[in-house]
Amino acid sequence: MSTGSIRIKGLSHSYGATAVLKDIHLDVSPGEFVAIVGPSGSGKSTLLSLLSGYLKPTSGVLERTGTTRTVHQADGLYPWLTVEGNLALGLPRLDAASKRRAVSDMVGRIGLVGFEKSFPHALSGGMRQRVEIGRALCGGTDVLMLDEPFSALDYLTRLKMRGELCRLLEDQPRTVILVTHDIEEATQLADRVLVLSERPASIVYELKIDVPRPRDVTASGVVDATKAVLKAMGYEP
Ligand code: ADP
Ligand code: MG
Repeated sequence: MSTGSIRIKGLSHSYGATAVLKDIHLDVSPGEFVAIVGPSGSGKSTLLSLLSGYLKPTSGVLERTGTTRTVHQADGLYPWLTVEGNLALGLPRLDAASKRRAVSDMVGRIGLVGFEKSFPHALSGGMRQRVEIGRALCGGTDVLMLDEPFSALDYLTRLKMRGELCRLLEDQPRTVILVTHDIEEATQLADRVLVLSERPASIVYELKIDVPRPRDVTASGVVDATKAVLKAMGYEP
């Protein structure tokens, strides 16, 4: 199993005078699926940028093992490359034959057989998202970071994509950090859900969800977890 771990202690980050993250502590074990939820603007994307090494924290300790790939909400595919071409970009330096094999294998996993030569504009939003996730998984990345990956999709496609992600992870286990404002997405998918406060954000609530995947959104364990997270975020029905 190829996965990585993360350990952060007393991590804080500011953009100039704007304090965004304050005293974050987090340990993620290899193969764990952690979801981070929080209000818009609380610093979720900033936290992922710190975890992936794209940003350096203002203070605190961050240790990471393994390689990282991030999938963003925004359409990150290259429009001038086909599905195959985009997937091949996720691969490390391999000889042409191994690259072809790996791409063709991933095309099957993401359910896009027959669309290898299609360009992104000819695909639906859900299909494009699958290529993005496939590209991130292709190179054997140890830690998959997902930044609101399904938020542009309609509800049904989102449910399907969650299922696809579970299947891909079953096939190829990874450590996953999912950042989302969709609480149900977090409780349906994650082993552990963390709630961030308003900015400057710290982790104000943590919930372990011990229900085997794939999980139905209506399963009692998922519904109970959603209720608990909503309560922690101050929601009263
Ligand atoms: P989230 O992903 O939770 O919506 P972000 O991490 O994108 O939050 O942003 C947190 C805060 O930091 C916001 O107030 C945002 O305006 C600010 N911010 C984000 N990126 C930058 C940047 N590069 N420079 C200055 N401020 C930023
Ligand atoms: Mg964000």
